[in-house]
Amino acid sequence: MAMNDLERLVSLQDLDLMIQEADEVAKLGFAMTGYAELQKAREELAMQIRKPLLSRYERLRAKLKRAIVPVKNDICLGCFLRQPTSLAARGREDEQIFTCENCGRMLYWLD
Ligand SMILES: [Zn+2]
Repeated sequence: MAMNDLERLVSLQDLDLMIQEADEVAKLGFAMTGYAELQKAREELAMQIRKPLLSRYERLRAKLKRAIVPVKNDICLGCFLRQPTSLAARGREDEQIFTCENCGRMLYWLD
């Protein structure tokens, strides 16, 4: 089954967080296995994401640990600000990615 961009972005972030952790472990002097595979998987996934979305993700990731976060009970789990109802209603209708008006993170709805 093909993934949509939202699923790809969430997976990409998972990989980036794993790579980040691996980097920190490597800094402590431990030998890393599977690091090259992680990087490769990350590159392959990134190539499948539409360019504007990817660059937006990269910009956010440069300053935030998580660029894309879920919304639960209309609350952005990045900054814990309640989202406007209009936005919440729209977000549930499709798989589009929205932006938190407070922190600028990319949002998706958890059901
Ligand atoms: Zn937010």
